[in-house]
Amino acid sequence: MNEFDVIVVGAGPSGATAAKCLGEAGVRVLVLEKAEAFPREKPCGGGLSARMLERFPYVKEVLAEVGTNPIRRVYLESPDGTGVVHEQAEPIMYLVRRWEYDAALFRRAQAVAPVEMGVTIRALRVLPEGVELEATDGRVFRAKMVIGCDSANSVIARHSGLRVGDIRSEYAVDMMEETPAAKMQAARPDTVSLFLTLTKTFGYGYIFPKTEHCNLGFGCKLDYYLEELRGKGKEHHAGWVEEMKQKGFVTGETQRDGYKAFPIPISGPLAKTYTDRVLLAGDAGGFVNAFTAEGIFYAMTSGALAAEAAIAAVKANDYSEAQLKGYERTWRAEIGGDLEHSVDIQRRLFNDSGRIDQIVRAASRDEGLLKLLIGYSMGAVRYEELRNYMAASAVPKWVMSKVASMLRFGNKGVATSKA
Ligand SMILES: Cc1cc2nc3c(=O)[nH]c(=O)nc-3n(C[C@H](O)[C@H](O)[C@H](O)COP(=O)(O)OP(=O)(O)OC[C@H]3O[C@@H](n4cnc5c(N)ncnc54)[C@H](O)[C@@H]3O)c2cc1C
Repeated sequence: MNEFDVIVVGAGPSGATAAKCLGEAGVRVLVLEKAEAFPREKPCGGGLSARMLERFPYVKEVLAEVGTNPIRRVYLESPDGTGVVHEQAEPIMYLVRRWEYDAALFRRAQAVAPVEMGVTIRALRVLPEGVELEATDGRVFRAKMVIGCDSANSVIARHSGLRVGDIRSEYAVDMMEETPAAKMQAARPDTVSLFLTLTKTFGYGYIFPKTEHCNLGFGCKLDYYLEELRGKGKEHHAGWVEEMKQKGFVTGETQRDGYKAFPIPISGPLAKTYTDRVLLAGDAGGFVNAFTAEGIFYAMTSGALAAEAAIAAVKANDYSEAQLKGYERTWRAEIGGDLEHSVDIQRRLFNDSGRIDQIVRAASRDEGLLKLLIGYSMGAVRYEELRNYMAASAVPKWVMSKVASMLRFGNKGVATSKA
């Protein structure tokens, strides 16, 4: 017998959001989370694009509960060292520590949904009458359906057959440290700094100053990491920090013990994110902007939409693939175009660092373009706005012709950085 209608595996931003929606709707839901307790560790830049507050108004209260640095100034540097700065009156991004932010989201989920902590799911079985989830301690949990919110290495995605094959070319690795400000400080605590450092492949560096910590990281494609950096990540990171010190972006010392590396899917959502009795949300379903590596907004949005689809399934008492397909329609309508463009832009721009140099240089001469490029990179501006600006020829002809030929714009394309 299924005691629960829905089991949510994982209580990060996607799982906590899904659980909150399900619990508030009165669905019989259970959350299973690997961590023993919240707060729990999660390597992340903790950059929240400002649109989060529109999509999830309660996040305003969350931000008031945790240390939050509202960012109004962004520095962007291209591979050839060209730097541009954009400043605006309204925050373009909020920097938080995931340690605190996730715990605050989790409290909201826990208030309306039962949770079992310290449960690591290792197997999923989809049966005619429901799903069975087997934990590493041998316990088996049953429900009518499951929402997999179990991150980049999702067991639910693999065991449901929704993620297949090698992930080498589909993932990035982000190597970072989040160090107390007493040990390392950003030269400009009011500024997010982004460095499009790698040539010939997707890669970025960033400095995110938190209220009491400094976050400094470097991301690259997983295949590049395996070929060039495997076993040398810590050294590479220390070198990156040193470079940032030499250039005057940070002061203080790297904390080698604080070094962490974690995968991020950067090839867009999986070809299919639903099957009989299963939905995937957040990193488990590939919901990350492939250009900026922003994932928290998409995790929460896909978590909320997966919950809506599950509520409809419970009401209809129908957990079939045909019923759950509605999930794909809603996420495609809300974030599908955004994610699709991000993959396209990443693949075209990062094939040739000269393209990024030219775009950043063009932006340094055109304030409107700069504002839109930075805005797009921060998740504040939609791709269409950027494209329309360029199509309206507000950009000088020579920039238009160069950028258009680089990005085939008019059809798809454009932009810069990491959020
Ligand atoms: C270093 C780094 C920097 C990043 N910086 C940013 C940024 O600045 N801004 C941004 O928007 N995005 C950023 N991202 C992406 C962002 O972190 C993810 O997209 C986001 O965390 C996805 O949320 P989620 O809920 O899907 O997964 P997670 O946050 O990873 O949560 C998954 C949860 O599931 C649990 N879990 C996992 N496996 C199991 C299992 N088998 N059984 C039970 N529980 C399980 C985990 O313990 C965890 O609590 C960054 C990513 C990395 C790696």
